[in-house]
Amino acid sequence: MSRWSGGSQSGLREANTAKIVDAVKRFGGLTQVELAEATSLSTATVSAIVKELSLSGLVETHPTSRSGRRAQLVTIARRAGLVAAVQIGSRSMRVRLSDVGQDVLADRSMPLPTDHAEDTVLDRITLLIIDMLGMIAADPGDLLGVCIAMPAPVDPATGLIAYRGVMRRWETQPVAEVVAQRIGCPVLVEKDANLAALAEATLGTARDVEDSVFVHASYTISAGVVLNSQIYRGRAGTAGEIGHVQVDPAGSICACGQRGCLETIAGAEAVTAPLRATFGQVTFKDVIARAAAGDPGCARVIADAATALGRVVAAAHQSLAPEVITVGGELAEAGPIFLLPFATAVRDNAPQARTLRNDPVPSSFGKDAVLVGATIHILQSTDPSQLLEDRS
Ligand SMILES: [Zn+2]
Repeated sequence: MSRWSGGSQSGLREANTAKIVDAVKRFGGLTQVELAEATSLSTATVSAIVKELSLSGLVETHPTSRSGRRAQLVTIARRAGLVAAVQIGSRSMRVRLSDVGQDVLADRSMPLPTDHAEDTVLDRITLLIIDMLGMIAADPGDLLGVCIAMPAPVDPATGLIAYRGVMRRWETQPVAEVVAQRIGCPVLVEKDANLAALAEATLGTARDVEDSVFVHASYTISAGVVLNSQIYRGRAGTAGEIGHVQVDPAGSICACGQRGCLETIAGAEAVTAPLRATFGQVTFKDVIARAAAGDPGCARVIADAATALGRVVAAAHQSLAPEVITVGGELAEAGPIFLLPFATAVRDNAPQARTLRNDPVPSSFGKDAVLVGATIHILQSTDPSQLLEDRS
């Protein structure tokens, strides 16, 4: 049992301490007045506990004047550990190192060849993390955990990709085990959309509500569902797999084996293929950039993808009635060309969205949503007592 769990005479004090540590972890850094508000504890209690935590080395205080008045900002001490968030995409991977106050210490991207071998990618991730740790004078012993975001659903029971076809060659790869063995710290593996949903639900667009959905419109299409403030994974981790809802029974064959999935209409390949006759070997990013610059053909395919996606999200809205729908990923970054037809399709096909005036909103974190969520996921999964170990 963690020493923060209570159950002894000093249970109340421990519970209050845990509340303060949780609030600092959740928000990254708060003044004592803000901590009192966030925890509903008196400023005297907060002050006494912060003093104790500072002496134990778990938190640090730094002068700040961010609210107009001089105050002390309370953060988790950096020596309490580092976290590594990894995002594996269809074409690239990105690694971000943060401290437990969620301050970003390093952030690097690396392209991935389309025919990459999964074990080589896992090697590259490990080497990149170690290299980046070296850059900030740290080593793997400073890592509290690594969270790897995958562009596919992960079965929480097995840690493997939930079904065949959607991430070829990775299906039998125990990613968490392999990386944990190489780097020597706990490793979590989670679907990217779930992590983006967690980021919005904790610190972003959905922070004030319990039920929300994040629509990840990227090379692949998926959604992350948060119910009662927790990631809802469903059976085998497949909740929110809206990219594989059939929208055209006569459509082309999808990677999952079904015909006419949403992804065959609104995924990267579907968006770029109709433009090759005009632009040659155009990439997904090119299409988005050309659309934003006013090319009518590129804008057309993005608007059509947005409408197809909006119709499926409308069905999800009717089923789950989330309080907030957030949309992110490369397609969403096309801006109003995407957002307007998307919101219209949700509204036109979901009476609940219409009556509640519940229009989708863009992500608070843009391109960073998944990595912010991965960082939060490690911090929320780490036993606070582990943070107490003196790592200096
Ligand atoms: Zn499919």
